[in-house]
Amino acid sequence: MQAQVLEKVWKSDDIFSLRLKTPSTLQAKPGQFVMVTLSGFPQRAYSIVEEKDATILLGIKMQQGTSKALSRLQGGETLDLIGPFGSFIPREGEQVTLVAGGIGITPMISLYKHYMLSGVPVQTLISSNDDFVFLEYFSAPRLFDTRKGPRICARDIPQDSLVYLCGPEPMINSLRDDLEKRGHPSNMIFSEDFK
Ligand SMILES: Cc1cc2nc3c(=O)[nH]c(=O)nc-3n(C[C@H](O)[C@H](O)[C@H](O)COP(=O)(O)OP(=O)(O)OC[C@H]3O[C@@H](n4cnc5c(N)ncnc54)[C@H](O)[C@@H]3O)c2cc1C
Repeated sequence: MQAQVLEKVWKSDDIFSLRLKTPSTLQAKPGQFVMVTLSGFPQRAYSIVEEKDATILLGIKMQQGTSKALSRLQGGETLDLIGPFGSFIPREGEQVTLVAGGIGITPMISLYKHYMLSGVPVQTLISSNDDFVFLEYFSAPRLFDTRKGPRICARDIPQDSLVYLCGPEPMINSLRDDLEKRGHPSNMIFSEDFK
Protein backbone atom coordinates (compact mmCIF):
# COMPACT_ATOMS: atom_id res chain seq x y z
CA MET A 1 0.00 0.00 0.00
CA GLN A 2 1.06 3.60 -0.46
CA ALA A 3 1.35 5.87 2.54
CA GLN A 4 1.83 9.60 2.54
CA VAL A 5 4.19 11.37 4.92
CA LEU A 6 2.11 13.87 6.90
CA GLU A 7 4.63 15.11 9.43
CA LYS A 8 8.18 14.61 10.70
CA VAL A 9 9.13 15.69 14.23
CA TRP A 10 12.65 15.51 15.69
CA LYS A 11 12.53 14.01 19.20
CA SER A 12 16.31 14.25 19.83
CA ASP A 13 19.48 14.83 17.78
CA ASP A 14 19.09 11.52 15.96
CA ILE A 15 15.57 10.26 16.63
CA PHE A 16 12.51 11.50 14.77
CA SER A 17 8.89 10.51 14.36
CA LEU A 18 7.03 10.19 11.07
CA ARG A 19 3.27 10.31 10.86
CA LEU A 20 2.00 8.48 7.76
CA LYS A 21 -1.45 8.53 6.21
CA THR A 22 -2.54 5.01 5.24
CA PRO A 23 -5.36 4.17 2.78
CA SER A 24 -7.35 2.61 5.62
CA THR A 25 -6.84 1.59 9.24
CA LEU A 26 -4.21 -1.15 9.50
CA GLN A 27 -5.75 -2.59 12.66
CA ALA A 28 -2.32 -3.43 13.95
CA LYS A 29 -2.01 -5.29 17.22
CA PRO A 30 0.05 -3.52 19.88
CA GLY A 31 3.78 -4.21 19.37
CA GLN A 32 3.55 -4.89 15.64
CA PHE A 33 5.60 -3.31 12.87
CA VAL A 34 5.37 -2.38 9.19
CA MET A 35 7.93 -2.88 6.41
CA VAL A 36 8.73 0.46 4.78
CA THR A 37 10.20 1.00 1.32
CA LEU A 38 11.49 4.37 0.23
CA SER A 39 12.34 4.29 -3.44
CA GLY A 40 16.05 3.59 -3.98
CA PHE A 41 16.74 2.33 -0.43
CA PRO A 42 16.54 -1.10 1.24
CA GLN A 43 13.23 -2.08 2.80
CA ARG A 44 13.29 -1.76 6.60
CA ALA A 45 10.99 -2.68 9.51
CA TYR A 46 9.60 -0.03 11.87
CA SER A 47 7.41 -0.60 14.92
CA ILE A 48 4.09 1.21 15.00
CA VAL A 49 4.15 3.67 17.87
CA GLU A 50 0.47 4.52 17.54
CA GLU A 51 -2.37 4.14 15.07
CA LYS A 52 -5.12 6.77 14.83
CA ASP A 53 -7.72 7.67 12.17
CA ALA A 54 -5.94 5.86 9.28
CA THR A 55 -2.59 7.29 10.28
CA ILE A 56 0.37 5.57 11.91
CA LEU A 57 3.23 7.06 13.86
CA LEU A 58 6.74 5.61 13.55
CA GLY A 59 9.76 6.45 15.73
CA ILE A 60 13.06 6.15 13.89
CA LYS A 61 16.68 6.40 14.93
CA MET A 62 18.78 7.92 12.17
CA GLN A 63 21.59 5.59 11.13
CA GLN A 64 23.21 5.43 7.69
CA GLY A 65 20.91 3.87 5.10
CA THR A 66 17.13 3.93 4.84
CA SER A 67 16.71 5.62 8.21
CA LYS A 68 18.93 8.52 7.10
CA ALA A 69 16.97 8.85 3.87
CA LEU A 70 13.70 8.85 5.86
CA SER A 71 15.11 11.58 8.11
CA ARG A 72 15.37 13.88 5.10
CA LEU A 73 11.65 13.68 4.29
CA GLN A 74 9.73 16.89 4.80
CA GLY A 75 6.10 15.81 4.36
CA GLY A 76 4.02 15.08 1.28
CA GLU A 77 6.25 12.24 0.00
CA THR A 78 4.95 8.73 -0.63
CA LEU A 79 6.31 5.48 0.82
CA ASP A 80 5.44 1.85 0.22
CA LEU A 81 4.21 -0.04 3.28
CA ILE A 82 3.38 -3.64 3.96
CA GLY A 83 2.07 -5.12 7.16
CA PRO A 84 1.33 -5.09 9.98
CA PHE A 85 3.52 -8.01 11.05
CA GLY A 86 4.98 -9.43 14.22
CA SER A 87 4.36 -11.59 17.25
CA PHE A 88 5.68 -9.15 19.88
CA ILE A 89 2.07 -8.69 20.93
CA PRO A 90 0.11 -8.75 24.19
CA ARG A 91 -0.30 -12.05 26.06
CA GLU A 92 -2.39 -12.71 29.10
CA GLY A 93 -0.62 -12.25 32.39
CA GLU A 94 -1.12 -11.03 35.96
CA GLN A 95 1.49 -8.31 35.59
CA VAL A 96 3.82 -7.06 32.90
CA THR A 97 7.30 -5.54 32.77
CA LEU A 98 8.33 -3.66 29.64
CA VAL A 99 12.10 -3.28 29.23
CA ALA A 100 13.34 -0.92 26.52
CA GLY A 101 16.83 0.11 25.51
CA GLY A 102 17.27 3.17 23.29
CA ILE A 103 15.02 3.15 20.23
CA GLY A 104 13.62 -0.18 21.52
CA ILE A 105 11.07 2.06 23.23
CA THR A 106 8.90 2.16 20.06
CA PRO A 107 6.92 -1.11 20.35
CA MET A 108 6.54 -0.57 24.11
CA ILE A 109 4.30 2.45 23.63
CA SER A 110 1.34 0.54 22.20
CA LEU A 111 1.96 -2.42 24.55
CA TYR A 112 1.93 -0.06 27.53
CA LYS A 113 -1.30 1.56 26.39
CA HIS A 114 -2.91 -1.85 25.86
CA TYR A 115 -2.05 -3.15 29.34
CA MET A 116 -3.01 0.13 31.03
CA LEU A 117 -6.43 0.05 29.34
CA SER A 118 -6.82 -3.65 30.27
CA GLY A 119 -6.16 -2.88 33.95
CA VAL A 120 -3.09 -5.15 34.09
CA PRO A 121 -0.31 -3.76 36.33
CA VAL A 122 2.55 -2.74 34.07
CA GLN A 123 5.93 -1.28 34.92
CA THR A 124 8.30 0.20 32.37
CA LEU A 125 12.09 0.14 32.61
CA ILE A 126 13.87 2.28 30.05
CA SER A 127 17.60 2.50 29.52
CA SER A 128 19.50 4.87 27.29
CA ASN A 129 23.03 6.11 26.82
CA ASP A 130 21.63 9.20 25.13
CA ASP A 131 18.46 11.30 25.31
CA PHE A 132 15.29 9.58 26.52
CA VAL A 133 12.50 9.91 23.95
CA PHE A 134 8.75 9.23 23.86
CA LEU A 135 8.54 9.43 27.68
CA GLU A 136 5.26 11.35 27.32
CA TYR A 137 3.52 8.03 26.61
CA PHE A 138 4.39 6.51 30.01
CA SER A 139 3.49 7.37 33.56
CA ALA A 140 6.31 6.88 36.06
CA PRO A 141 8.77 4.88 33.94
CA ARG A 142 12.02 3.89 35.71
CA LEU A 143 14.88 5.47 33.79
CA PHE A 144 18.39 4.00 33.65
CA ASP A 145 20.91 6.45 32.23
CA THR A 146 23.75 4.06 31.43
CA ARG A 147 26.26 6.95 31.11
CA LYS A 148 25.90 7.62 34.83
CA GLY A 149 24.33 4.75 36.65
CA PRO A 150 23.52 1.06 36.77
CA ARG A 151 22.07 -0.95 33.91
CA ILE A 152 18.73 -2.73 34.09
CA CYS A 153 19.23 -6.16 35.66
CA ALA A 154 17.09 -9.24 36.27
CA ARG A 155 16.59 -8.27 39.94
CA ASP A 156 14.57 -5.25 38.76
CA ILE A 157 11.96 -7.58 37.20
CA PRO A 158 9.36 -9.41 39.34
CA GLN A 159 9.46 -13.20 38.89
CA ASP A 160 5.75 -13.62 38.13
CA SER A 161 5.72 -10.92 35.47
CA LEU A 162 5.46 -11.27 31.70
CA VAL A 163 8.59 -9.59 30.33
CA TYR A 164 8.87 -7.74 27.02
CA LEU A 165 12.43 -6.90 25.96
CA CYS A 166 13.42 -4.65 23.08
CA GLY A 167 16.74 -2.93 22.57
CA PRO A 168 20.33 -3.66 21.63
CA GLU A 169 20.98 -7.37 21.08
CA PRO A 170 23.57 -7.70 23.90
CA MET A 171 21.11 -6.15 26.36
CA ILE A 172 18.30 -8.50 25.31
CA ASN A 173 20.54 -11.58 25.44
CA SER A 174 22.12 -10.83 28.79
CA LEU A 175 18.81 -9.96 30.46
CA ARG A 176 17.14 -13.06 29.06
CA ASP A 177 20.03 -15.24 30.32
CA ASP A 178 19.99 -13.64 33.77
CA LEU A 179 16.22 -13.94 34.05
CA GLU A 180 16.33 -17.62 33.11
CA LYS A 181 19.20 -18.26 35.57
CA ARG A 182 17.00 -16.75 38.29
CA GLY A 183 14.22 -19.18 37.33
CA HIS A 184 12.03 -16.85 35.29
CA PRO A 185 9.94 -19.12 32.99
CA SER A 186 11.23 -18.71 29.43
CA ASN A 187 7.67 -18.79 28.08
CA MET A 188 6.99 -15.57 29.96
CA ILE A 189 9.84 -13.68 28.24
CA PHE A 190 9.28 -12.09 24.81
CA SER A 191 11.81 -10.12 22.82
CA GLU A 192 11.97 -8.09 19.64
CA ASP A 193 15.29 -7.85 17.88
CA PHE A 194 15.74 -4.75 15.69
CA LYS A 195 18.38 -6.44 13.48
C1 LIG B 1 10.84 -5.94 13.82
C2 LIG B 1 11.72 -4.70 13.71
C3 LIG B 1 11.25 -3.49 14.19
C4 LIG B 1 12.05 -2.35 14.10
N1 LIG B 1 11.57 -1.18 14.59
C5 LIG B 1 12.37 -0.08 14.54
C6 LIG B 1 11.89 1.17 15.07
O1 LIG B 1 10.76 1.28 15.58
N2 LIG B 1 12.72 2.24 14.98
C7 LIG B 1 13.99 2.16 14.43
O2 LIG B 1 14.69 3.17 14.37
N3 LIG B 1 14.45 0.99 13.92
C8 LIG B 1 13.67 -0.10 13.96
N4 LIG B 1 14.13 -1.27 13.42
C9 LIG B 1 15.45 -1.26 12.74
C10 LIG B 1 15.24 -0.81 11.29
O3 LIG B 1 14.51 -1.80 10.58
C11 LIG B 1 16.57 -0.61 10.53
O4 LIG B 1 17.38 -1.76 10.69
C12 LIG B 1 17.32 0.62 11.02
O5 LIG B 1 16.52 1.79 10.80
C13 LIG B 1 18.64 0.78 10.28
O6 LIG B 1 18.35 0.88 8.92
P1 LIG B 1 19.35 1.66 7.94
O7 LIG B 1 19.02 1.28 6.54
O8 LIG B 1 19.38 3.09 8.25
O9 LIG B 1 20.67 0.91 8.39
P2 LIG B 1 22.14 1.26 8.13
O10 LIG B 1 22.51 2.58 8.70
O11 LIG B 1 22.43 1.00 6.69
O12 LIG B 1 22.78 0.14 9.03
C14 LIG B 1 22.84 0.28 10.44
C15 LIG B 1 23.45 -0.97 11.03
O13 LIG B 1 22.46 -2.01 11.14
C16 LIG B 1 22.78 -3.09 10.28
N5 LIG B 1 21.52 -3.47 9.64
C17 LIG B 1 20.56 -2.63 9.20
N6 LIG B 1 19.50 -3.32 8.75
C18 LIG B 1 19.81 -4.62 8.86
C19 LIG B 1 19.11 -5.81 8.54
N7 LIG B 1 17.89 -5.82 8.00
N8 LIG B 1 19.73 -6.98 8.83
C20 LIG B 1 20.95 -7.00 9.37
N9 LIG B 1 21.65 -5.89 9.68
C21 LIG B 1 21.09 -4.73 9.44
C22 LIG B 1 23.80 -2.57 9.32
O14 LIG B 1 24.65 -3.59 8.86
C23 LIG B 1 24.55 -1.57 10.19
O15 LIG B 1 25.45 -2.20 11.05
C24 LIG B 1 13.35 -2.42 13.52
C25 LIG B 1 13.80 -3.66 13.03
C26 LIG B 1 13.02 -4.77 13.13
C27 LIG B 1 13.53 -6.08 12.60
